[in-house]
Amino acid sequence: MFDFKVLYESDDTRARAGLLQTLHGAVETPVFMPVGTLATVKSLSPEELSSAGATIVLGNAYHLYLRPGCSVINRFAGLHKFMNWHRPILTDSGGFQVFSLAKLSRITEKGVAFQSHIDGSSHLLTPEKVIEIQICLGSDIMMCLDDCVQYPASRDVTDEALNLTSCWAQRCKEAWENNTQKENALFGIAQGGMFKDLREKSIDALLEIGFSGYAIGGLSVGEPKDVMFEISDFTLPKLPDTKPKYIMGVGTPEDLIELVSLGADMFDCVLPTRNARNGQLFTPFGTLNICNSRHRDDTDPIDPECNCYTCRNYSRAYLRHLYLAKELLAYRLNTIHNVYYYVNLMWNIRSAVCAGQFKDFKEAFYKKRGVIP
Ligand SMILES: [Zn+2]
Repeated sequence: MFDFKVLYESDDTRARAGLLQTLHGAVETPVFMPVGTLATVKSLSPEELSSAGATIVLGNAYHLYLRPGCSVINRFAGLHKFMNWHRPILTDSGGFQVFSLAKLSRITEKGVAFQSHIDGSSHLLTPEKVIEIQICLGSDIMMCLDDCVQYPASRDVTDEALNLTSCWAQRCKEAWENNTQKENALFGIAQGGMFKDLREKSIDALLEIGFSGYAIGGLSVGEPKDVMFEISDFTLPKLPDTKPKYIMGVGTPEDLIELVSLGADMFDCVLPTRNARNGQLFTPFGTLNICNSRHRDDTDPIDPECNCYTCRNYSRAYLRHLYLAKELLAYRLNTIHNVYYYVNLMWNIRSAVCAGQFKDFKEAFYKKRGVIP
């Protein structure tokens, strides 16, 4: 059932427009996937997500395994029914969260032993377990368990982590083959830190195993921006062009444009949702801080050209008031706008690629930045 096709390619960059087919419908790429870690994109209902244009959301296996747990989600035959979202869902395995959130995590070849960040209970996350959890969640796209190193990391530490990631990828693939109808997809995650030869080694190992799509993990972990682009530029062409290429956890609107230019198809990032809750709103002119006193009696919407529900109905002055009064509606209206902005940006990028005008689009995008009317 899972399928991916490249429909258009840009002449002067590596940008491409494609179509992902999943059990829960099609997704046009390049695509931004709003982050719904705990089976909710914070403050939005699934209807609001759909209206904002989202076609696929992210869930997190580690978080959902700990709370509410697979026994609850099983009663709904998966995450789609549980959260009332009937379009595609990609779930991250939770490798990254184990390392960043869990207490006393200990890595062995078997898997990661850790204590829950919620109640301190002990767990062992193995590659097989991660697939079992994602089967219970009914994910359209599952991710392998990976060992993501911190930045900076030495060559030896990075090499060791990537060897473990490759070994876990093999076991994830076997568990996926033995326990699913293969109607959903399993993506491999390339590691290798900021070392090009290690990135290559990681990709070679994943290609040997073979996956429905490939992700680049371990970026945007504190490295300088030019290093992130250099590693993406080096890594993306080494992934097969017939498969979706996913850059995990990145980034700003500028990052997305640049990474699409380098050949990336899929993105997720907490930036639009987290920043919305901090009053930071994305516009074609740059980021607007709704707290700013200049918006106190501003009757304009966030962006007069934006077609989102928030911009069609509310002024900057009202949004500023809600935000300063800590009213719950502020989080919702701000998030609707930011999600719409990201999704719409990707949609515009895609249209430009399809029309053979991506380079012009990119130029116009940068020209507008920096001047908030
Ligand atoms: Zn808007």
